Amino acid sequence: MPNPDHAPEPGSAVPSPNAADGALPLLDLPASGPQDARPGISDASPGELLSWFADRGEAAFRARQLADHVWSGRAKSFDDIHTLPGPLREALEATYRFCTLTGTERRSADGGLTDKALHTLDDGRVVESVLMRYPARGSRRERTTLCISSQAGCAVGCPFCATGELGLWRDLRTSEIIDQARFWRNELAGEGRRLTNIVFMGMGEPLLNPDAVLAACGALSDGTRFGLGQRHITVSTAGVIPGIERLTDLRRQYKLAISLHTARPDLRDVLVPLNRKYPLEGVVAAATDYADATGRRITYEMVMIDRINDTPADARATAELLRGRLAHVNLIPMNPVAHTPWRPSSPERVEAYAATLRAVGLHTTVRRNRGLDIGAACGQLAAQMAGEPAPAAVQRRRDVIERRSAAALIDIPDRPAQPRSGA
Ligand code: SAH
Ligand code: SF4
Repeated sequence: MPNPDHAPEPGSAVPSPNAADGALPLLDLPASGPQDARPGISDASPGELLSWFADRGEAAFRARQLADHVWSGRAKSFDDIHTLPGPLREALEATYRFCTLTGTERRSADGGLTDKALHTLDDGRVVESVLMRYPARGSRRERTTLCISSQAGCAVGCPFCATGELGLWRDLRTSEIIDQARFWRNELAGEGRRLTNIVFMGMGEPLLNPDAVLAACGALSDGTRFGLGQRHITVSTAGVIPGIERLTDLRRQYKLAISLHTARPDLRDVLVPLNRKYPLEGVVAAATDYADATGRRITYEMVMIDRINDTPADARATAELLRGRLAHVNLIPMNPVAHTPWRPSSPERVEAYAATLRAVGLHTTVRRNRGLDIGAACGQLAAQMAGEPAPAAVQRRRDVIERRSAAALIDIPDRPAQPRSGA
């Protein structure tokens, strides 16, 4: 029977499943203050800085001195750049902010292998970044991967995601995205380490803030600025087709990750509400065009949820959808979040799913979730900061999620049991 709860909303913007429930927002949004009108220095292109110095009668080498400190030095403010004369430092301070993050709180987990930062922005909003260290193994060199945020909150509302429950507070500016990476580059420099990879898998949907995200990717991969190779930057999306097409048109070598989670259209309407606007066949077609245009293999992310999207029938549907494509599948047991009735899939169920994909030749890896004890799934720490929702609101939210997923799962023959509820 069709479920009126997830009927398509033609022509709508990003559907907000939560608004219709009357049960959300679960969390009170923190009060926001005025934004600082000065752009971040990392917003300024090399050309803009050259003009800024030229307008003040200064030589071009001053712009290089500044850029050295902005992009690779360990200065924490314009005042620390002693190679620049005092009046220039003051003028810079009046025009730009050296860093757009007004404060950062760090937490460690996994015996120091995972670090999380909660960054405060000028208006009091908070965003998260997570650093994951992968020690050298065999012939593989040490890697340090940083997961950064593209928005404060997210409008998509995937029900297994802590950020989705926050709703969208606001888009991040280019500098606010880049400054998360600058923060960690400085921290790592203090340990004698380098940042090797950046993934847009923190808070927010990068391709719903495409101008800022693509400008940030440009600066992060520019040899005269942050200088990370394009191949070391991953844009992860829930499937914003126009954004994927923009990426394809750029013809860069960024890695594209698609948060697919299921190959069943009805179930994807529930797991990724954006599916009602951009259905999965179109998303996979757009991703395949990206792979064809760039030669880059697409990563498909599957958050594995016990008895919701991990049955043999689910595995077969995914195998059918992706077989023969330039694809890599990542299976990630769901990180538990308070407001869902769902649990992570067991290792046995994940392995069985992986075996079905491998049997059709799909490259598949099983990922371990990092930093569970510091809430490293995107948005968890920010959600904690926003305060605990009332138990009744959580229960209402769980009931809605269960009702919708039960309706989407009704026709699946080999689903062993109904979803379990309770904590
Ligand atoms: N909005 C983008 C990028 C941020 S989310 C996207 O959805 O791709 C980054 C990844 O974290 C996505 O693959 C998302 O599905 C995953 N994720 C969100 N909540 C999670 C949870 N509770 N457990 C495991 N992965 C989760
Ligand atoms: Fe937004 Fe991604 Fe979380 Fe979905 S998984 S709510 S798209 S951040």
